[in-house]
Amino acid sequence: MASVEIREVRKAFGATPVIHGVSIDITDGEFVILVGPSGCGKSTLLRMVAGLESVTGGEIRIGERVVNNVPPKERDIAMVFQNYALYPHMTVADNMGFSLKLKNAPKAEIQQRVNRAAEILGLTKLLDRYPRQLSGGQRQRVAMGRAIVRDPQVFLFDEPLSNLDAKLRVQMRTEIKELHQRLKTTTVYVTHDQIEAMTMADKIVVMHDGIVEQMGAPLDLYDRPANLFVAGFIGSPS
Ligand code: ADP
Ligand code: MG
Repeated sequence: MASVEIREVRKAFGATPVIHGVSIDITDGEFVILVGPSGCGKSTLLRMVAGLESVTGGEIRIGERVVNNVPPKERDIAMVFQNYALYPHMTVADNMGFSLKLKNAPKAEIQQRVNRAAEILGLTKLLDRYPRQLSGGQRQRVAMGRAIVRDPQVFLFDEPLSNLDAKLRVQMRTEIKELHQRLKTTTVYVTHDQIEAMTMADKIVVMHDGIVEQMGAPLDLYDRPANLFVAGFIGSPS
């Protein structure tokens, strides 16, 4: 686990600024959700934490380390995307172990870590299957399994449930929360779904047009929204 500190972070694409000085403190083991309408900069911020986008200004720390210039592979994070592409020609076990294989981890260690992740996610009986033989929820679990086997300091999720149907989405919310309670890995989770945010987060960060409107515990935002934008966003049905 590690803390993540986002300090006065700015981002511009060319001449166009999209993140205007955002500061967020995420403590060890915290589950923080970035929420806000499409285009407000959630993915861009997450991608800067992951190292997939450069930082135009400000500072990002993971643990004690400033990571602005640290390549993604050296940041000790694992990211789960909305469009998690599994390798179709690889079994579930090989999909989950692939990143460790790339790092030349010993075979026995890969197997041990894959088995542990499979046990946590209820995939033990499916390890020899191929992605086409899995349901949507099972595929999503394999995508999470790929993150878990790496045993990262920080999980980053970018709208991981938005391709699932409504029923499965509700089930996966619970599973992801249980996973967090078990592993206690620091998590930054992006969604545009305020119900997901209200039910899953320790702390919600409400973003709008590249700034933070408010952050706090779900009930604090619900009871004491700082402005009409937060009130409208948190209070509206998804
Ligand atoms: P969200 O994830 O909240 O929907 P994004 O972070 O994807 O928002 O986008 C924030 C803003 O940055 C949007 O205006 C988007 O068009 C712009 N943007 C995102 N990625 C790029 C890029 N690679 N080049 C130019 N503009 C981008
Ligand atoms: Mg996005």
